[in-house]
Amino acid sequence: MSIADNIKNLKKETGDDNVKLIAVSKTKPVEVLQEAYDAGQRVFGENNVQEMVEKQEKLPKDIEWHLIGHLQTNKVKYIASFISLIHSVDSLKLLQEIDKQAAKNKRVIDCLLQIYIADEETKFGLGFDEAIELLRSEEFTALKNVRIVGLMGIATNTDNEKQLKEEFYELHTFFTGIKTSFFRKEDSFKELSMGMSADYKIAIEEGSTMIRVGSLIFGQRLIPHWKNN
Ligand SMILES: *Cc1c(COP(=O)(O)O)cnc(C)c1O
Repeated sequence: MSIADNIKNLKKETGDDNVKLIAVSKTKPVEVLQEAYDAGQRVFGENNVQEMVEKQEKLPKDIEWHLIGHLQTNKVKYIASFISLIHSVDSLKLLQEIDKQAAKNKRVIDCLLQIYIADEETKFGLGFDEAIELLRSEEFTALKNVRIVGLMGIATNTDNEKQLKEEFYELHTFFTGIKTSFFRKEDSFKELSMGMSADYKIAIEEGSTMIRVGSLIFGQRLIPHWKNN
């Protein structure tokens, strides 16, 4: 099936407005992104700063760019002028740098806190306690040019549906608690980014508002696993 068909089918399943489809285009050339763009897709996710910047320069300016992979503080400056959403905030230090670069660009940058939910050693993210500690800190409260609009999580790479369901459920429950404790008055805190090609259906059932789908739209990525994540 074509990229256009894949996007159309996914949009049908996500019920269009309820769940936002982020087309994860990492490793794919601009021609392929353009094809998705021509099929109506406007939101793209990348995990590498340099790759995102190169693509952003070549593609239409009404694309919403989402950074979904681990972000190094020294790279924030390259995306601060155009980034729509950073899914992968996993430290106060990173958030402070995003705030600084956002201020330089006279804007507010929307971010998600990446929460560690997987039963694996390799995934980045904050533990539940660390996230709470960050949100409680005076340093966080002082930031004026970042806005936390929700949480993101990557589930364990497993076929075990029960485990996936539990991990997503746990993240949703934590999200609800964080909303109540820290963002009760902020309508903008509403995003729960969870679900990828293999597990997006379960993620939607468990309350996802943003799914990050790559291979199901663009086909398999033919590069080593360690470069994919
Ligand atoms: C690569 C990646 C995805 C998409 O993975 P697929 O299995 O191709 O859908 C989603 N989220 C993150 C954080 C990724 O790095």
